[in-house]
Amino acid sequence: MRSPALGALRGARGSALKAPFPAQRRSLSLLHTTSQHVTAARSTRRLTASAASVGLSRSQPYSSPAQREVKDETGKPYLEQPQQQDDHGERKWSTPLAKQLAEAIETTGPIPLASYMRMCLTADIGGYYTGALGEGRDPFGRTGDFVTSPEISQVFGELCAIWFVAEWMAQGRKTRGVELIEVGPGRGTLMDDMLRTIHRFPAMAKSIDAVYMVEASPDLRVVQKNLLCGEDAPITESKAGYHSVCKHGGVPIVWTETIRSIPIGPEKTPFIMAHEFFDALPIHAFQLVSVPATQSLPRAPDDNSSPSTKTSHPTLQWREFVVTPTPPGSTHDSLNTPPTQSRLSPPPDFQLTLSPGPTRHSLHLPDLSPRYRALKSAVGAGALLEVCPDLALYAADFAARIGGSAARPKPTPSGAALILDYGPGDGSVPANSLRGIRAHRRVSPFSEPGLTDLSADVDFAALAEAATRASEGVEVHGPVRQADFLEAMGIRERVDMVLRGGRLTPEQETVVRGAWERLVDRGPGGMGKVYKALAILPENEGRRRPVGFGGDLVDG
Ligand code: SAH
Repeated sequence: MRSPALGALRGARGSALKAPFPAQRRSLSLLHTTSQHVTAARSTRRLTASAASVGLSRSQPYSSPAQREVKDETGKPYLEQPQQQDDHGERKWSTPLAKQLAEAIETTGPIPLASYMRMCLTADIGGYYTGALGEGRDPFGRTGDFVTSPEISQVFGELCAIWFVAEWMAQGRKTRGVELIEVGPGRGTLMDDMLRTIHRFPAMAKSIDAVYMVEASPDLRVVQKNLLCGEDAPITESKAGYHSVCKHGGVPIVWTETIRSIPIGPEKTPFIMAHEFFDALPIHAFQLVSVPATQSLPRAPDDNSSPSTKTSHPTLQWREFVVTPTPPGSTHDSLNTPPTQSRLSPPPDFQLTLSPGPTRHSLHLPDLSPRYRALKSAVGAGALLEVCPDLALYAADFAARIGGSAARPKPTPSGAALILDYGPGDGSVPANSLRGIRAHRRVSPFSEPGLTDLSADVDFAALAEAATRASEGVEVHGPVRQADFLEAMGIRERVDMVLRGGRLTPEQETVVRGAWERLVDRGPGGMGKVYKALAILPENEGRRRPVGFGGDLVDG
């Protein structure tokens, strides 16, 4: 089992997010070194240490809340605000969503971590992505919470586009039925860079029937539409989603809330992009406990199939981490907020506790994969495990679109998915990787729910397993480190080309070089090492490795 994720990273970078922001995003046009549109700064997202975010908070008896001076993670003193009460002696929650969650927990009992994450990220009211963006909040960029690779340099999107162009060529240059699908497109920057690049290959551009953007956030949908179609472009609504027309070649763009709303057909060739999407999907977290010999074998609350029996020897059983409110008047001290998390956020409203008995999820999810089952013998009591059911659903959907499935056979598999995100690349199971990010700092994932970005390591091995299980028509390549992928795709040559063009000022050259170095940084916690790339392709008995994953350009 893996140790806490990305642990060395903060040390290397110095702060949660992290290296200084590049002043500008420098255009590194792939084919024309003259293109130099400059947009907002791009920098890194969520690359932070993850120690003990799943650690249980220490409960303390209620004591009268009072301000006191404490030190933040850099040693700077500040006044800590304990959780407050209102005039009627009622507990004050840090956000309206926290109050709503607390009321729900009071009614239903503790909730699984996945339910908490889902509400925090995508609840209609107050969700991080879906709620308060319109109120002048933007998750991305210097004034937001985090920054992502496409926001650092347009070369990132250009190379992703080239990867899809290479696949389109290798798969016989289809003349119709091609669609581009992006899940979790953020500001739309990556798709904009990809479409601009693909339009330098007119035959492929002509083959694209539609672009689909899977986006949960209504506000980000508008940001994406403005970028890809122009502010004045009309948007229409249908049962399928929202429609507009792209400024790149007039191709139709459709926005949907989930990938299930995008039609599937055997004649389609879907090229699917997922960058920093999977890390935002809700996870369940479990711990393996040893249950004493004399204790009755527990049953799920809704299981009335067989009477409980006594065990004759201790057994190892999975227990689920559930979310409960912290005691009133809690402080960071009383909750033992780990040193990796900033204490500048208010004390957490919630904490994780281990469910005393099994839950529906603890009986089912840890049993789904031999990798999870192996933890019993390899690690034993105390083993931690994170499972992301939505990751498997999305991976299976991608695979079925590319390779067909029993329900929807596809005689000739076609298309490809490119997934870039952070998580272990060695097949180990993510554990203890939940993290909260606010204003470029690591904070408690239970502080200011709905205002704090939540994410977790992506289980690439589970992704591969779900894809190949869902469709016999696909194969998976990777994960490989982002640095290896981008270098194989020619990032060094692109940057050299731009630098040799002689059109940049010395400051611009520094920005271009800095962005490149950042994307391929293989140092501890560097983006080139922490982020991985994985590809899902039509089944080919492994005969053709895709470019970027050890293969060469092939024209099929
Ligand atoms: N890919 C972009 C943005 C990453 S942030 C980039 O790299 O810059 C995550 C994105 O996924 C946001 O656009 C967010 O609104 C979207 N998102 C998060 N959870 C989602 C869900 N369950 N369904 C659809 N979109 C989701």
